Amino acid sequence: MNTVQGKLWVVATPIGNLDDLSGRAESILCRVSLIAAEDTRHTGALLARIGSRAPTIALHEHNEREQVYRIIEAVQGGAEVALVSDAGTPLISDPGFRLVRAAREARVPVSPVPGPCAAIAALSVAGLPSDRFVFEGFLVAKASARRERLQQLVAETRTLIFHESSHRIVEMLKDAQSILGDERQVVVARELTKVFETVLSGSLPEVIEQIEADSNQQRGEFVVMLAGASGEQADATLVEGRRVFALLSEEMAPARAARMAAAITGAPRKLLYGKPAD
Ligand code: SAM
Repeated sequence: MNTVQGKLWVVATPIGNLDDLSGRAESILCRVSLIAAEDTRHTGALLARIGSRAPTIALHEHNEREQVYRIIEAVQGGAEVALVSDAGTPLISDPGFRLVRAAREARVPVSPVPGPCAAIAALSVAGLPSDRFVFEGFLVAKASARRERLQQLVAETRTLIFHESSHRIVEMLKDAQSILGDERQVVVARELTKVFETVLSGSLPEVIEQIEADSNQQRGEFVVMLAGASGEQADATLVEGRRVFALLSEEMAPARAARMAAAITGAPRKLLYGKPAD
């Protein structure tokens, strides 16, 4: 009977500055018998730098289902396996969720090796309330769906965090301006830990102006953070939601009217219609 205890390590890697790889991450990446990587070539460069000879296999959104079985089996056989993504913490807008869920279901030990995470690094320097926040990942590419999602977040009072790419940054900020208003504060963290790191902050029109005026500010990787709605902004949304709900209820069933009023105004559906304990 095999009594060796295997483990799946979920290892965070740098988001730019390679010196951000922790000593513990380095020693684990050097000693595991297998590394599941989002892109084996990309991870190969990091492994070469630290002198790790561990074999790598690709684990990305297109093959995660098939690879999960192989990795779990290796851990059950006593192997230590590391999961890494191209940058930052695996599973955070990166592959790995299916693997970790399957490992938990199979009662295989899973342990984090914490480290860089763009969203958390950005929040730590934003100067926006950080006691409560909502991580929204990437907004969808389709303009109408993106705007609809922002609409649903109008009355959200917690700080909002988004990932964004260089080709949509201006468009995304303009959508946020038109839906959340000119007063909403925004912080755009670009190329964190890299040579051209910049953190811009101000109202949406101010930051959009700075980014549009300098094409360099449209390059690289971005975390966009929006202040949550103030009590006043959230109340105004609710008042508007109730007005639209009342109008729509004259034409359709209340549950449907509440769904539509919530989608149109951003007011929480449950506050428009439904049982209090809903
Ligand atoms: N798992 C990663 C993490 O923990 O940071 C995030 C992976 S996600 C596919 C990539 C996105 O993270 C980029 O499009 C950008 O929004 C953000 N990002 C990654 N590195 C960044 C950096 N150095 N500065 C700003 N944003 C970054």
